[in-house]
Amino acid sequence: MESREYDVVIIGGGILGLSTAMQLGQRYPAQKIAVVEKEETLATHQTGHNSGVIHSGIYYRPGSWKSRFCVAGVQKLVQFCDENEIEYERCGKAIVATHESELGRLQNLFERGVANGVAGLELVGPERLKEIEPHTVGVKALWAPNTGIVDYIKVAHAYAGRFQETGGEIFTGAAVQSVASSSNSLAVETSKGTLTTKNIINCAGLYADRVAQMTGEKTDVQIIPFRGEYYTLRPESRHLVKGLIYPVPDPRFPFLGVHYTRNIHGGVEAGPNAVLAWAREGYTKSSFNLGETLGAVTFPGFWKMSMKHWKTGVSEMRRSYSKSVFVNDLQKLIPEIRAEDLASGGAGVRAQAVARDGALLDDFSILRGRNAVHVLNAPSPGATSSLAIGEHLVDLAVESFGISA
Ligand SMILES: Cc1cc2nc3c(=O)[nH]c(=O)nc-3n(C[C@H](O)[C@H](O)[C@H](O)COP(=O)(O)OP(=O)(O)OC[C@H]3O[C@@H](n4cnc5c(N)ncnc54)[C@H](O)[C@@H]3O)c2cc1C
Repeated sequence: MESREYDVVIIGGGILGLSTAMQLGQRYPAQKIAVVEKEETLATHQTGHNSGVIHSGIYYRPGSWKSRFCVAGVQKLVQFCDENEIEYERCGKAIVATHESELGRLQNLFERGVANGVAGLELVGPERLKEIEPHTVGVKALWAPNTGIVDYIKVAHAYAGRFQETGGEIFTGAAVQSVASSSNSLAVETSKGTLTTKNIINCAGLYADRVAQMTGEKTDVQIIPFRGEYYTLRPESRHLVKGLIYPVPDPRFPFLGVHYTRNIHGGVEAGPNAVLAWAREGYTKSSFNLGETLGAVTFPGFWKMSMKHWKTGVSEMRRSYSKSVFVNDLQKLIPEIRAEDLASGGAGVRAQAVARDGALLDDFSILRGRNAVHVLNAPSPGATSSLAIGEHLVDLAVESFGISA
């Protein structure tokens, strides 16, 4: 890597870093911008291991960043896909109440979705649900016809391509190891050499808190990795799912519950669950990283979170280790599903920021530092919202870094 000076270095070649890079480069073509990514390939972590859903904005508290960025992000994403010939599909999503006790929460979701401006929402009874998803059983469902599916790896690579067209540079296989600050520049030391820059945008996902600390920032949150494991439906069982079928989520927990998702390539996945991972990139049950585990357990928020959510944690572990428990949960939505219909699938790891008081941060969280902007919490619907978040990060960068044309 030749040593060069940049105006902005973006750390992280996931969908958020690349969206931000593309939009910064398009708005300010004269700026020297680089993206540094530690893996050899872009979009390797959360962006490459998610459910591929274009969320419509139902779940999020009106006025929250999630509701704003998701609703705005969908429009921008769909337009980007149209313009760049990226396949997507509006297959629709049914959020299904399988028990009377969930009806109040389903009604609340409907009202939230309407308040967030999500178009086309409809509460439907069991007969209409049968027309939408013939194998799904429920007492009532919220039908969101505009929810869609896409391949986020393709989207991220398209952002990268558009960024490079503006003259932007991407360095892969370059892990940021430290950041040294001098009077008016930052030296970003990577495994491939050092870049000098005036400013940094940190989109390092599972390591965003670590990268923020490298710049001298004292973050009051820590990223705790939660693995989400999937099963895939065998080809002969895929007909059981037409689109996206979700349970009514538990509002105390920021995850959506195990669901069925048809992906854009025709496969159907069931999951993800949410189990604590003992490594930030811990994609398998046996993944373990001593330093990262020590980092987690010495953070006070970890224990407070564990005390608050231990019951959910135990049941998630049971579901992770027992296929029959997983299948039982899936049968609540599709009673016909059998263990034989499911083959082991992949897993993704969510970068979930946890506060010192043990709260799981629900909303997106962005921190402005000196010469730096840090994305500290960008869980789902981060991929759907990627263009809206990127646009916001560019605005923050312009304000904080004094960028001009
Ligand atoms: C299981 C799962 C399911 C999900 N489902 C959906 C969904 O259906 N729809 C949706 O909208 N969202 C979904 N999400 C959320 C979505 O995937 C994320 O919000 C989004 O991918 C975040 O993008 P990112 O760029 O911040 O992170 P990432 O994609 O993780 O990118 C961060 C990058 O930073 C790099 N990096 C880290 N440290 C360094 C370093 N020191 N030096 C250089 N590079 C570094 C990493 O290698 C990585 O490539 C899901 C997430 C998960 C995990």
